[in-house]
Amino acid sequence: MTLTVRQFACLADNYGFLVRDEASGAVACVDTPEADAVLQALKAAGWELDMILNTHWHPDHAGGNAAIKAATGASIVGPEEVTRIAPLDRAVTDGDIVILGESRFEVIGSGGHTLGHVAYFAPSDHVAFVGDTLFALGCGRIFEGTPAQMWQSLSRLAALPEDTSVYCAHEYTAANARFALSVDQSPALRSRADAIFAARVRGEPTVPTTIGLEKQTNPFLRAAGVDDFAALRAAKDVFKG
Ligand code: ZN
Ligand code: FE
Repeated sequence: MTLTVRQFACLADNYGFLVRDEASGAVACVDTPEADAVLQALKAAGWELDMILNTHWHPDHAGGNAAIKAATGASIVGPEEVTRIAPLDRAVTDGDIVILGESRFEVIGSGGHTLGHVAYFAPSDHVAFVGDTLFALGCGRIFEGTPAQMWQSLSRLAALPEDTSVYCAHEYTAANARFALSVDQSPALRSRADAIFAARVRGEPTVPTTIGLEKQTNPFLRAAGVDDFAALRAAKDVFKG
């Protein structure tokens, strides 16, 4: 492994992430839900921030950009849509490469939640930061895109190596598990859901997950096709579990 990830809670149910390239000491934070929490995590780690990587423009993902840049001088990389709330140093889109020290991240277009949403995948370490596209046992709400776009985005993420560590941006897993159980009674899902409920009672995070685990048990990745996916997403939007 050449990357080290530190994960910390922000706001009500967001996660913030710091990622360090061990060969060079270069550090990035993925999204900026809360400037103070990010700066505190940097201090606790004894790391200096070089780069902010944004997944999408929502304030719970880019709202801390300006304050963190002012405090650290980090350069800000993200999809063009982030300029709605803060300036970018580099706009990235599907297929671009972001270099952090001696590590590289592939930018994967993952629109649907927002139109320009991107994910960042490090092939050296099989680590992916997926923002609000893929969640443990769930997926993001479709605010700006179409079900077809979101299905395409999820399919791209599902094609990553099965052992990829998937860093989702929210702790939504227990609620996602309740919805998943309403549409699927498989033993694999049941036992995963039980483990999730127990972990949450203990106050433990359920993120990161893996692509393999999600392919086995996430109802949105197990949908038969785009129509099935669209129906599931619509059902989840109104589910009261
Ligand atoms: Zn969002
Ligand atoms: Fe979010």
